Amino acid sequence: MAETREFDVVVLGGGPGGYAAAFHAADLGLKTAVIDTRERPGGVCVYEGCIPSKALLHIAELIGEARHASDFGISFGEPKIDLDKLRGFKNKVVDSLTGGGAQLAKARKVEWFQGKGVFESSDAISVALASGSTARLTYKQCILASGSLVAPLPGIDLESDLLMTSSEALELESVPETLLVVGAGYIGLEMGSVYAALGSKVTVVEFLDHILPGADKDLVRPLKKRLDGLFEAIHLSTKVVGLKEVDGGIEAKFEGSIDNDTQTFSKVLVAVGRIPNSRGLGLEKTQVQVDDKGFVRVNDRQQTADPKIYAIGDVAGQPMLAHKASREGRVAAEVIAGKPAAFDNVAIPAVVFTDPEIAWCGITETEAKRDGVEIEVYRFPFGASGRAQALGRTEGLTKIIFEPGTGRVMGVGIVGPGAGELIAEGVLACEMAAVAEDLAATIHAHPTLSETVMEAAESFMGQATHFYRRR
Ligand code: FAD
Repeated sequence: MAETREFDVVVLGGGPGGYAAAFHAADLGLKTAVIDTRERPGGVCVYEGCIPSKALLHIAELIGEARHASDFGISFGEPKIDLDKLRGFKNKVVDSLTGGGAQLAKARKVEWFQGKGVFESSDAISVALASGSTARLTYKQCILASGSLVAPLPGIDLESDLLMTSSEALELESVPETLLVVGAGYIGLEMGSVYAALGSKVTVVEFLDHILPGADKDLVRPLKKRLDGLFEAIHLSTKVVGLKEVDGGIEAKFEGSIDNDTQTFSKVLVAVGRIPNSRGLGLEKTQVQVDDKGFVRVNDRQQTADPKIYAIGDVAGQPMLAHKASREGRVAAEVIAGKPAAFDNVAIPAVVFTDPEIAWCGITETEAKRDGVEIEVYRFPFGASGRAQALGRTEGLTKIIFEPGTGRVMGVGIVGPGAGELIAEGVLACEMAAVAEDLAATIHAHPTLSETVMEAAESFMGQATHFYRRR
């Protein structure tokens, strides 16, 4: 008979959604437990997603910068790569963060149950513990934070060590001579950039006629131009219809806008998206409802159709991003603690950590056009920024999407170095319902790329100091 333990809150899943929810619930005075298959907090994000990919992208950026330095008359030569050491650096980052998370859980008296949890009913979860025994947890409220899984490539059932998901690609087992990346979303392009920097000849195929669905075309253009130089090829409107292991790699068959429809690669990375992890959790024993894509249905208080169960993060809907999961986690904890909270954020930032980076928040031009929303867009090119000139990176662009008449900031898009950091000001502007004058009259440090935000707002006000617009 499994031991039964009672909690105020049990969180199923300890990723950035789950641990943020659990820590906040504990801080609000609730007796809290987390169930996760992993030993420590972090989930996909810290173990095999955001963090290890960014550690490797930092190295890729260093290599790119060193190569770029020859434009300024400084040459470093070809990099010598010690793969074991590089992997060690990445693993150390993951270890440090998950270790820190475990300490934070302990300090808050959040109990960690390592094992697989399955709902027995609306108010109990049984856990097959990693230790081999079983635990039964009951609760007043549960927060489901089971995240997402790698989406398989439709119609392909090849099993091969040469076929990688993003998790395996992050293991950095080897640097293949040639790499096929299937999917030009942010994960495919980020991982493709890492491998290209390390020396692989990278080919990307994308079913759609553009890379990075969701991002406005003017933001994507400078990145596409740079990637065209970094990668062997990017084939758009092209579909992988077959993969088979052959001598020396994997033979891929393509359909679409591609001349050579059969090519062999040393390795293949499938990055065609992620699916919500809502199966096999025993949800049928609860009143939780799941939509046709597998996402758990929630309201703006993160409540599911089952009064005892909340859901947050990747399993609870798009966008599947860590910071959205964390915010939802804190909202769920506050609602459970009786606070008047709701997920009422108006802007969720999206960042693509390629070189250059792309970041946006709020409404995009594409969405405004699709939904018939009236907007006014003002752009400031990085070519007119002193800081961008000094960095030798003038291909970037900052644009602000305003509400006509009022000048309220409805969205911001940035492409260029540091876009992922710069977007924070845009998110705050959207959340605070800032108007153009708020940004234009705020003093931004000189010389910084943040001035491009101020100057795009100045354009709306009349003229930007460093960019003349003919009227
Ligand atoms: P997850 O992080 O998926 O965590 C869920 C946890 O629940 C996992 O640890 C899982 O093992 C556990 N679990 C599931 N079912 C059970 C069960 N039955 N019993 C016990 N435990 C269970 N997002 C960003 O915002 N920025 C980025 O730069 C970024 N880069 C990424 C790069 C890659 C390569 C990948 C794959 C993803 C990236 N993401 C990024 C997405 C980000 O990782 C997810 O949005 C985020 O992890 C979702 O958090 P979550 O808490 O919902 O779930």
